[in-house]
Amino acid sequence: MPALEIYNTLIPENQKTIIQMNVAHLTTRTPIEIPIFVYKSQHPGPTVLFSAGMHGDEINGVEIVRRILDTDLYKVDRGTVICIPIINIYGFLNFSRYVPDGKDVNRSFPGYAKGSLASKVAYHITKYIIPYIDLGIDFHTGGSQRTNYPQIRGDFSDEMTAQLARDTRAPFLIHSKIILGSLRMAAHENGKKILVYEGGESLRYDKFAIEEGYNCVHRLLKSLDMINRIPEPCSNSILIEDKSWYRCPDSGMWIPAVEYGDYVEKEQSMGFITSPFGDFKSKVVSKEAGYIIGLNNQAVVNKGDALINLGVVAEG
Ligand SMILES: [Zn+2]
Repeated sequence: MPALEIYNTLIPENQKTIIQMNVAHLTTRTPIEIPIFVYKSQHPGPTVLFSAGMHGDEINGVEIVRRILDTDLYKVDRGTVICIPIINIYGFLNFSRYVPDGKDVNRSFPGYAKGSLASKVAYHITKYIIPYIDLGIDFHTGGSQRTNYPQIRGDFSDEMTAQLARDTRAPFLIHSKIILGSLRMAAHENGKKILVYEGGESLRYDKFAIEEGYNCVHRLLKSLDMINRIPEPCSNSILIEDKSWYRCPDSGMWIPAVEYGDYVEKEQSMGFITSPFGDFKSKVVSKEAGYIIGLNNQAVVNKGDALINLGVVAEG
């Protein structure tokens, strides 16, 4: 096989190589470098990317990729693994989804070498990483105080993407169109397949979401025949065809009657909004049967806030 070289760094076989990708500077001129870990087996196979921290406050994903490194899951028997625990170093340092100018890296792909911070980060991933991969998982979480039940998202109108999603055996598989300016879009335009994993909420560890994310990686690597290690047994995934947010009908205290992952029937009460004085109650009722794939954990909410993301199961 020809020698692999990424970002002017020669990748030797059977050893972990760390690349420091210099993307920009802090206001103090301190360089911002994205650490990238590459492991190339001596045997041929696919090249898979595991990336997280695109939104710097989504720590469950960072922990999942850290565990891949910590437990040597990246040491594949065939093919190559590229791990990027934190894409948005700025956001991680500042407990923020965004880069300091308020832009979202995952809306800035494919990026521009001389662009803003978000655009520069996106450009480096597009130019120096995407060309080398075949597929990958980008790890995310719900937003502030909104938690997502562990789920894999992808454009399942593409059969190969749908098969890769099934191979992860994530609890929920959710068909979702590619978002303009996302890593998924940049990868897609280069013929590469990226799945998005969502689990838990920002700035908070979710033990179950972390373990499920790690297990998804393990199962995917096994199904791609890249590792010999046997993954944990698991149950079948539930395919979600459509999802809709139930929004807060009135401002007040939010008392959910469901937990994330629960199944609800049509016209089931999923919780209620009340005043702090007990003189007002407004129910949140399901319009159709489905699963609670996202839930707002905030105690006090305002009219219009997203409360529940209900996933509807594919028919047939
Ligand atoms: Zn995210």
